[in-house]
Amino acid sequence: MGLAERYRSVQERIRAAERAAGRESGSVDLIVVTKNHPAQLVLDLHALGQRSFGENRDQEARPKALEVSQAGVGDADWHFVGQLQSNKVKSVLEYASCIHSIDRASLVRELSKQLGRAPRALSGFIELNLTDDLNRGGVAEADLLPLAESLLEIDGFNLLGVMAVASLDGQPGRDFELAVAMSEQLKTLAPTADKISMGMSDDFEIAISMGATHIRVGSAITGPRPTTA
Ligand SMILES: *Cc1c(COP(=O)(O)O)cnc(C)c1O
Repeated sequence: MGLAERYRSVQERIRAAERAAGRESGSVDLIVVTKNHPAQLVLDLHALGQRSFGENRDQEARPKALEVSQAGVGDADWHFVGQLQSNKVKSVLEYASCIHSIDRASLVRELSKQLGRAPRALSGFIELNLTDDLNRGGVAEADLLPLAESLLEIDGFNLLGVMAVASLDGQPGRDFELAVAMSEQLKTLAPTADKISMGMSDDFEIAISMGATHIRVGSAITGPRPTTA
């Protein structure tokens, strides 16, 4: 299968999962994760109609976004999905419209400092830690609402909801259930922050059945990732 076939096939699977869940067609936003692939892949996907792209490292994403815009594509929409260091925030804000991985107070402080000077408004998700391993990134349940409160105070920032990555133990349904419960908690504080970013190549259909509004799909579309771009 070539890129176009893989892309169409994932789109069909998304439509089928939406139907099966009784959800409106097109209610799930697909972000294609292009990490480790060259800018040309983004251009090829753009030619197929894709507009939202995900990256997880600023060192790679920043030159790629520049290359794509220099190729004449002005409407690529960049989503930052990886662990974000505070000292990269300024750079990421120059190309990204959405950050999926907001997970600590120091990052919120830096966002609030840099957003006033950024070229566009920013939207984002609070990343959840669904495990007991604090090194994995993401907020623990107890920190969700305090972090959300500080994010809601930032001008020019639109809190969309929560983001989750299923743990590697092969039970995404259980992890996603926890994410949905934490989404409900967030909504008690911020009723409009009702979006859920969850689901990747191996589990996006389960995620859609459980209410994901944004899915982040890489290899099912791009093919296997080369280790370097
Ligand atoms: C790489 C990555 C994805 C996509 O993973 P695939 O398994 O290739 O679909 C999604 N989300 C995050 C945070 C990632 O780092």
